[in-house]
Amino acid sequence: MVKQRTLDHSIRCSGIGLHSGRKLELVLHPAEVDTGIMFVRSDLGVEIKGHVSSVVDTRLCTTIGNGDATISTVEHIMSALAGLGIDNARIEVNGAEIPVMDGSASPFVFLIQCAGIAEQEKPKKVLRVLKRVSIEDEEKSCALYPASGFRVSYLLDYPHPLLSNCKVNFDFSRQGYAREVGRARTFGFIHEVEALQKAGLALGGSMDNAVVLDKYGVLNSGGLRYADECARHKVLDTVGDLFLAGLPIVGAFEGERSGHAMNCQLVSALLADESAWVIEELAAPIADEATQPEAMPASVTGMMH
Ligand SMILES: [Zn+2]
Repeated sequence: MVKQRTLDHSIRCSGIGLHSGRKLELVLHPAEVDTGIMFVRSDLGVEIKGHVSSVVDTRLCTTIGNGDATISTVEHIMSALAGLGIDNARIEVNGAEIPVMDGSASPFVFLIQCAGIAEQEKPKKVLRVLKRVSIEDEEKSCALYPASGFRVSYLLDYPHPLLSNCKVNFDFSRQGYAREVGRARTFGFIHEVEALQKAGLALGGSMDNAVVLDKYGVLNSGGLRYADECARHKVLDTVGDLFLAGLPIVGAFEGERSGHAMNCQLVSALLADESAWVIEELAAPIADEATQPEAMPASVTGMMH
């Protein structure tokens, strides 16, 4: 039996909000079995379930809400939680967005690994896809279909030298999330960033938390973390959005030029068709869940005895 997992203890960090530019405090807490991922606006005392039924906006990022209380940019931390196989957690933030950190899921992966992962005395539940469900809109599309593990393939295709016809494929039963996908940063075009900032948006956006592109290539002095970093980031976003189903998905996702809006529509369409899924207890692990921080080089560990 695979058991449900939560954090071993609470852990906190602070960071800048991408949209507000404000400093925010984030605290990750363990949670009881069958809680799922629960977000909390600690400044308002309002809980917001990390579920597609809470989604109120999908422009630029995924925003969830409960009444007037909202939290934006939940997809990267949801992705880290899904990627590390965390079933239950309480995520408290004292403002209207999750801090952007470096624009990837890597800082959240690191926080969770530092907190430690604790197994709980109840079987892990998954949502197994039983038939193909798809969403199409002109040249964009995405679909979920039955598969034995969890796979995501994505076609990034914009008219740009780095972003045209870039196809990536991940089978998370064989490839580690943290190493292959978790480090991929969000990306944007310099002219879009300037326009957003004029409109009072993306005030915290900078080359510290995004890959910034001009017409020809990357403006960040450090370059890219992976040659296909932008396509990998779309996979990272997708892993986070799919976890808004409320349980880890067993199935395969295929996306072409799709984004948060379409991902959330797909999860809603899946859940709305009760013949398209079944909830089951997981007998064997489906993913290579990196529970430990990356091993240190032997030259370093050799000096620790
Ligand atoms: Zn993203």
